[in-house]
Amino acid sequence: MPELPEVETTVRGISPHMLKQTISSVIVRHPLLRWPIPADIDSILRGKIIKTISRRGKYILFGFETGTLILHLGMSGRVRILDKPTSPEKHDHVDICLNNQSYLRLSDPRRFGALLWTASPAEIHPLLSKMGIEPLLKEFNGDYLFQLSRKKKTPVKSFIMDSHIVTGVGNIYATEALFHASIYPNKPAGNISKLDYISLVRAIKLILKNAIAKGGTTLKDFKQSDGNPGYFSIQLKVYGKNGEPCPRCNMKLKSLRIAQRSTIYCSMCQK
Ligand SMILES: [Zn+2]
Repeated sequence: MPELPEVETTVRGISPHMLKQTISSVIVRHPLLRWPIPADIDSILRGKIIKTISRRGKYILFGFETGTLILHLGMSGRVRILDKPTSPEKHDHVDICLNNQSYLRLSDPRRFGALLWTASPAEIHPLLSKMGIEPLLKEFNGDYLFQLSRKKKTPVKSFIMDSHIVTGVGNIYATEALFHASIYPNKPAGNISKLDYISLVRAIKLILKNAIAKGGTTLKDFKQSDGNPGYFSIQLKVYGKNGEPCPRCNMKLKSLRIAQRSTIYCSMCQK
């Protein structure tokens, strides 16, 4: 599933090809994604110039003089830039065609993604308005988590995965960051010290930044006919390694379910 680093890499990968370009048409072959693609999307976007391309959480936002096109890659979505006519395959649901003859092709086999239009400012759209802080901003810091977590009994792992608190910390990144910061994932969020939150935030930022940097090396793939943006694997220390030795102390890693998500941790290193 595309996580924040993949979405950030996608924004950086498509921007040079799409920014300041005019949309010539939008071809929708299959409008039923997680929500239906607006039936009039072609007439809305035709002739409009893409002024900005940005990311909020896992949403990609195409900004126009007025209005925003909101793209979410869901569980299995990916986009690529093509510049030669190429027959669409089964899951190539949408092409956003540009005046410069190239086009963005959206594939989404499981169709949990979304392509929506809003004429109002994007930040007040219901999908975006209640979203928590961006994890890479400096306002996301140990003090922020410490203040919001007081008296909270929810496990710290659920707390940092709550998108109303901070957006884009998925299961992989939460699991890895808690190991990095030596925090037991099931510990109540309200019982964690400010110092521990400071090191947890550092770990989250470090892991996300490393993943984005790694994604940078795949950018060229956005413009290949067989292009796959490559949902890059960061160097995982514990995620997916139940029963393997802890990379720090060699104890067997354990598994725990928190909010229906499996969590791998070291009972020796994480307190
Ligand atoms: Zn250990």
